[in-house]
Amino acid sequence: MNATGGPRAEVIAIGDELTTGARLDTNSQWLSAELAVLGIPVAFHTTAPDTLDSGLEALRIAAGRADIVVATGGLGPTADDLTRDVLAGLAGAPLDLDAASLAAVESRFARRNAPMPESNRRQALFPRGSRIIPNPDGTAPGIDLDVTGPSGRRCRVFALPGVPGEMKTMWRETVAPALAGLVPGGATIVQRRIKCFGAGESAIEALLPDLIRRGREPCVGITAHEATITLRITARGRDEAACRAAIAADEATIRGCLGPLVYGVEDDEVEDAAVRAVSAAGLTLGSAEIGTEGRVAALLARARGRLLDAGVAVRGGLVLSAAGSTAGPDAAQSLADRARRECVTTLGLGVGGPRPGAEGRTVIDVALSGLTDRGGRPAVVRLEHVLGGGPDLAGSRAAKSAIDLVRRSLAELGGDGAAT
Ligand code: ATP
Repeated sequence: MNATGGPRAEVIAIGDELTTGARLDTNSQWLSAELAVLGIPVAFHTTAPDTLDSGLEALRIAAGRADIVVATGGLGPTADDLTRDVLAGLAGAPLDLDAASLAAVESRFARRNAPMPESNRRQALFPRGSRIIPNPDGTAPGIDLDVTGPSGRRCRVFALPGVPGEMKTMWRETVAPALAGLVPGGATIVQRRIKCFGAGESAIEALLPDLIRRGREPCVGITAHEATITLRITARGRDEAACRAAIAADEATIRGCLGPLVYGVEDDEVEDAAVRAVSAAGLTLGSAEIGTEGRVAALLARARGRLLDAGVAVRGGLVLSAAGSTAGPDAAQSLADRARRECVTTLGLGVGGPRPGAEGRTVIDVALSGLTDRGGRPAVVRLEHVLGGGPDLAGSRAAKSAIDLVRRSLAELGGDGAAT
């Protein structure tokens, strides 16, 4: 138990690639932040290699000192994926074959027209007495098991796959709701993420009234990743409707204060919002870039893949070499016009640079062609993006800023502003 009488947790990451340093354990970081949101403090992190003995040792220790253990990794089909054997050993229970899980694994292979390797049968084995955690994105279901630690204390162990995307979906859909019920006060917890771009973390915080304050209900947290700012609202209430009402009030305040800095919610990326805006206006978009390592085209292509129907608004992108080209606002404008011509689109996004700007800064020029102003004249839509951060971060920020210019310009000028 923790100081408030609630449960305390331990997070275990399993995998040779983690103990050897070949890969960074981001799962434990993510899970710890998620557990904190639920009001469950994490007392320990443990990392163990892929051996039965180490896994058992790590889980025995954890079960002796934590009420909740969340483990990731080692649920795959290969001989070194031993988490299910470790859990069976810990609970002193045999592994039983679950017919429904086996059928699900088999049908996944059948859909891909591939024979199922015999080793994949392992993924349908569960320690007797455990609950199965569905995995909508992969073959390995998770395991939810009650065990008794050496001192006789009860501990609930959740084992999830190591693949971060699968692990997160399973956490959100099954594990987090199960854990919310274990916290004293037993309230329902609902979260919503509001995504912003175009200002830094502290600038965004300054624009908001006193929302991001410890102990406030709902709780509003702020995080930044590659210049995208996420405001996460977490409401606790007697039921889901009460939580959603509290979240809606905060979301309205945030949108009111931040205006066009808010581009989306939940998993939306800057490029998703831009592509949706282009598609909603019935327009199409092509890009041409120099000096950004193809990042603009790559982000737009990824959005295209994610958004299916709306994605067809993206027609293509030219990634050009800087050789012989000049940099500056006019060069970006030429690139925008060229993108429009060569991709045969209504809108062209041109990105060029980097070049020296004022006061020793380095800038990237962005131009968007194809929009008209309210008077029907071709609109000049340009942006001088100042590069900042390390080389990787700077490039990613520049590409996102360029793409965000599309969303913002459409919001300002309206889709009817497309030149013919
Ligand atoms: P699968 O059924 O897909 O094999 P698994 O449970 O066996 O899942 P692992 O084989 O341990 O998972 O890892 C699968 C992938 O997830 C690997 O690419 C691995 O590097 C990554 N991964 C595993 N654990 C972590 C972690 N703690 N943090 C970040 N990535 C991880």
